[in-house]
Amino acid sequence: MEKVILLRYGEIYLKGKNRGYFERLLLANCKKALQNYQCEITKSFGRYYVENFDILETDEIIEKLKKVSGLHSLMVANKIPTDLNEVAKLCAEAANDEGTFRISVNRADKTIASSSPEMAAYIGGVVLEKHPKLKVDLKRPDQEINVEFRENGFSYVYFKSIPCLRGMPIGSSGKGLCLLSGGIDSPVAYFRMAKRGMHIDAVHFHSFPYTSLMAKEKVLDLAKILAEYTGQMRVYVVPFTDIQREIHEKCPAEYMITIMRRMMMRIAERLATKNGCLSLITGESLAQVASQTQESITVTNSVIERLPVFRPLIGMDKEEIIETAREIGTFETSILPYEDCCTVFLPKNPVIRPKLEDIVAAENKMDYEPLLQSALDNTEIVYIE
Ligand code: ATP
Ligand code: MG
Repeated sequence: MEKVILLRYGEIYLKGKNRGYFERLLLANCKKALQNYQCEITKSFGRYYVENFDILETDEIIEKLKKVSGLHSLMVANKIPTDLNEVAKLCAEAANDEGTFRISVNRADKTIASSSPEMAAYIGGVVLEKHPKLKVDLKRPDQEINVEFRENGFSYVYFKSIPCLRGMPIGSSGKGLCLLSGGIDSPVAYFRMAKRGMHIDAVHFHSFPYTSLMAKEKVLDLAKILAEYTGQMRVYVVPFTDIQREIHEKCPAEYMITIMRRMMMRIAERLATKNGCLSLITGESLAQVASQTQESITVTNSVIERLPVFRPLIGMDKEEIIETAREIGTFETSILPYEDCCTVFLPKNPVIRPKLEDIVAAENKMDYEPLLQSALDNTEIVYIE
C-alpha cells in the first residue's frame, strides 16, 4: 500500500473560466517548493497528489508545503485501488480498539452506484466487527476515518487534515515592493500581501555608520525567512544617512520622522516603478505611534504619485501582529536589539497631527532631489533565494 500526500486548494475554487491558470501556477509553486526532494506531483480533478517520495522525508515535505500560498490543507493518506471491501478492511486495520469513531466518505467518483452514507455505514459495520468495544459517534468522535473515492479509480484513507496557508498562489497578483524595517510589523505586512498572491521584493533604508552592519544583516535574515513563502526576492538596500543628516540640519526636529517617511516613500515609489512593482506595502497600523495617525499617514501618502500603498496591518492591534510574527517565524529575529534608522536623531516630541503645508514648507528648505538621486544610484541589490 502506498503513502501519498493529498493537497486541497482554497480560494481558487471561486475562480471561473481562468481557474486552470491558477491551478497550473499553484502546481508549479508546489513543485518549486519540493524541488530538492525526490517526488512526483500531479493534478487531477481539483486535487494534487504528491507521490513516490521517501517516507523518511514526509515531515520535511509537509513543512515545505505548509508555506505554499494557495493550499488549503493536506492529508497523508493510504492509497489503494477502489474496492469497497478492501477499503473497509484497511479502515478496520487502522481503527482504534476502543473509544468512539466515525467514517466520513467523499464519493468524488460518481460512477460508484452506492451513496456516501451507504458506504460509510458498510465500512463502519466492518470496523465494528473487528473492534466490538468501539462505538460510533458522528458528532465528536475520538477518531475520524476519512475515505475519498476519487475519479482516478483509487481510494484514499486518512485520519487528519493539516491546515495550510490558504490564500492565492504566489505570482497570480503581480509584484509589489515592501518597505522592510527590522521591526516586528513590516515582515508581517509582507507575509499578508504575499498570501494574496503577490511576489514581493523589499526595500530597506539604512543609516550606516549611525546604525550598525548588524542592523542590515538582521533585515537580510528576515528577508530569508520571508523568501520561504515567496520563493525568492530582491532586497534593495538604500543608503539613507545623507538624507537623514540633511533633514536633521535643515528641518524642525518635530518634523524629522514625517519628512523621513516622505523621503522613503519617494525613493520606494521610484524603485518600484523602475522594477515592475505595482504597489508599495508598509507595516503601518493606525494609531500605533505618532507617525501612524490619520493625519501623519495623509502627509506621508501625499508624496506618492501613481502607485497604491497597501497597509495590510492598518486595522490590526499589536498583539495580533505579534501572533502572526510568531507563526511565520520572524518574531525572534525582529526583536533582536539592533537599532533602526528611525531611532537615529529621534526627536523627543514628534508631531502627531502634521499639517501638509507646514511639512512641505519645512521640506523645501532642503535641496533633496540630488540626495534622493544619489541614494538611488548607490542602492545595493541583494538577491535572496
Ligand atoms: P516596523 O515594526 O515594521 O518597524 P514600526 O511599528 O516600527 O514598524 P514605523 O517605524 O512607524 O513603525 O514604520 C512604519 C513603516 O515604515 C514600517 O512598517 C515599514 O514598512 C516602513 N519603514 C520604517 N523604517 C524603515 C526602514 N528603515 N526601511 C524600510 N522601511 C521602513
Ligand atoms: Mg520600526
